Amino acid sequence: MSDVEATLRKKKAELEEQMAGLAVRPDDQGSISFGKRVGEGTSMAVDRLSQVAAHDKLQITLADVDRALEKVSEETYGRCDVCEKPIGDERLEALPWAVLCVDDAGRR
Ligand SMILES: [Zn+2]
Repeated sequence: MSDVEATLRKKKAELEEQMAGLAVRPDDQGSISFGKRVGEGTSMAVDRLSQVAAHDKLQITLADVDRALEKVSEETYGRCDVCEKPIGDERLEALPWAVLCVDDAGRR
């Protein structure tokens, strides 16, 4: 296993652990209840919304990590998925699961 793959697998495990900690399942998102009472019910719903937002963020990163792992096995790791130019060592060092160059990531 390459160093990159080890880094990505470690990140993937971390993300999955964080998502499990949030205890928000994707299929729960449509059934957020705000309840009838203001007060406790509302703060719980708001809390839940921020958990869903955090969960979404983790899921997006997880998708990138998965894609980066695919790229390692495809031997395209380090190249942008859109323009196929090198992503750049500095960017990969800061963001080992980057699958797009700065330009294309900005357009996403
Ligand atoms: Zn690109």
